[in-house]
Amino acid sequence: MKRFLSLLAGLVICASAFSQVPAPVQITPAEGTPNLTKELSRKIGGKAFAKKTAALPAYAWEEAYELTVTPKGYKVLANTEEGYFYALQTLKQMQTCGTVYDYPRFQYRGFMMDVSRHFRDKDFIIKQLEALASVKINQFHMHLTDDAGWRIQIDKYPRLTTHGAWRVGDTWQEWQDGGNKYSYEGAPDASGGYLTKADIREILAAAERLHITVIPEIEMPGHSRETIYAYPEVGCMEGARELCPGKEATFELLEGILEEVIELFPSPYIHVGGDEADKRNWKECPDCQARMKAEGLANVEELQSYLIKRMERFINDHGRQLLGWDEILEGGLSPNATVMSWRGTQGGVEAVSQGHDAVMTPGRYCYLDKVQDAPIYEPEGFGGFLSVDVAHSYDPMEGMPEGAEMHLLGVQGNLWAEKIPTDEHYEYMMYPRIAAIAEVGWSQPDRKDGFRERVTRWNDNLIAAGYHAFDLHKEYGERPAYKNGVKHLALGKPVKYNQLWNRGYPAAREATLTDGICGGWSYGDGRWQGFLTDIDVVIDLESVQPIHYVGGTFLCEPGPGIFLPKSVEVWLSADGENFEQVATIPNEIQEPCQSYVLFGTPVTAEARYVRFVAHPTRGFHFLDEVVVN
Ligand SMILES: [Zn+2]
Repeated sequence: MKRFLSLLAGLVICASAFSQVPAPVQITPAEGTPNLTKELSRKIGGKAFAKKTAALPAYAWEEAYELTVTPKGYKVLANTEEGYFYALQTLKQMQTCGTVYDYPRFQYRGFMMDVSRHFRDKDFIIKQLEALASVKINQFHMHLTDDAGWRIQIDKYPRLTTHGAWRVGDTWQEWQDGGNKYSYEGAPDASGGYLTKADIREILAAAERLHITVIPEIEMPGHSRETIYAYPEVGCMEGARELCPGKEATFELLEGILEEVIELFPSPYIHVGGDEADKRNWKECPDCQARMKAEGLANVEELQSYLIKRMERFINDHGRQLLGWDEILEGGLSPNATVMSWRGTQGGVEAVSQGHDAVMTPGRYCYLDKVQDAPIYEPEGFGGFLSVDVAHSYDPMEGMPEGAEMHLLGVQGNLWAEKIPTDEHYEYMMYPRIAAIAEVGWSQPDRKDGFRERVTRWNDNLIAAGYHAFDLHKEYGERPAYKNGVKHLALGKPVKYNQLWNRGYPAAREATLTDGICGGWSYGDGRWQGFLTDIDVVIDLESVQPIHYVGGTFLCEPGPGIFLPKSVEVWLSADGENFEQVATIPNEIQEPCQSYVLFGTPVTAEARYVRFVAHPTRGFHFLDEVVVN
């Protein structure tokens, strides 16, 4: 009987024993109180374990481990120091005796920290590295430069930090509202900061101890307004946001910067950004035009590609590899560049199809700047909703072509910081969602069950250790109407649009507003219909009926430019020809808001046709249902 039980235990992972994040490949629980402090044996590079793991891909072989915990102490088998380190991370989460055999699904499990929009110092960064390592994140991508501030000491170009690191406006929002003004170190209005080389070395030493690779990102050619402020000669014109690929001074500066960055960071990858460059200035700039002519470049996309390819040669010549956001695919790219796919998953699919290595960071699952709970209760996000469960549901292999695993390196969570002024808020946005992404990267898909319970425990421990994580016990969850839908008189009735929806946000087209299906906390969930014009629809109830109420819920999210209507009008008609206006509902909500506002009104009438009109203020308006009762 005892043998049967232990066999069963080996097959069925019971919840009490299975408490790790990320979930390991295999756990075989055993009896007894675990002794987590006494190391009985440590075998790194032994023959038996090397043989057991021989069939694994090289990266998984390197990170594999076997951990056995008994009442007397623990034993570790591993092929490398990394594997041993991961065994110790698992050990910290063990609650019972047993044996854990484990290796990662993907080699790249990353987190990107934005230290430009709001500066974070080395102590804060090292504190986060400790937590990241505990869930086996092994890549730390630092977004070191952007319009809002240059954050790394470069000896050859001191103005990057004496000027580019300082702005007027403590928060990114204040800086935006104040017209993006810069300052200089020591000035009374200066806000900002930067990491010295000594700071970076401390960060790198901590990362090495935690088996984390630190990937530096130096943005080019877009997101570079602060660089041009410090060194105007590398812009097409004064105040430009994009570097000028026509001027040799630009390449001289970039190469000088990268030389020092490469000397400092041992990372095999150097990230060059490459995203969201507004190329309009290049069309006007004589240097850019001359460059295009000399190099036979057909358009400004090829001019961007010229810059990226030239920087890639420089990086390769220094023994490193180029990594960039998926825009670097535009205009052609050499095959040894690695692509970080952020605009949905398509960039990643394209990249691996073209033989590039790719890291998946699709906004829908990996952008931690979205709010993680009911927006009405959360600090302002940058737009959209991403719960810990949605982040956890991601599978990077989904939609990938056959053989993609050859090139699909892994997954990364990105935390942009425009709306995150404080360190506490930054941690709040990081945790626990980065643990969900860590599990997406490490765990086999069939091992992801019971995540909720496991991550809650991990997160509680994190909070106890002094991190300002989001408290999962207080999670409100998805919008109730999203889960339950709504029943009303107009359900399934035909709707005539006097103005069509915006084609980017059709939801269920003509069926949307009477299908009983309600949107959730995210405007992009396919249930909200978006409009840039008046909303003007007529619902046909198909017979004259008594009507007591008409209303619709609108979304307000200033980050992505979604606003409430100025007012809503309700018109009724018996014949579809002669309409009578029965109500005007004004907008009484102060903006900016981050909320869901019902524009509803009681009516007392009999009618067959209900006309629902919303007048725009600015930006987008989103509506999910017109409720008639
Ligand atoms: Zn130019």
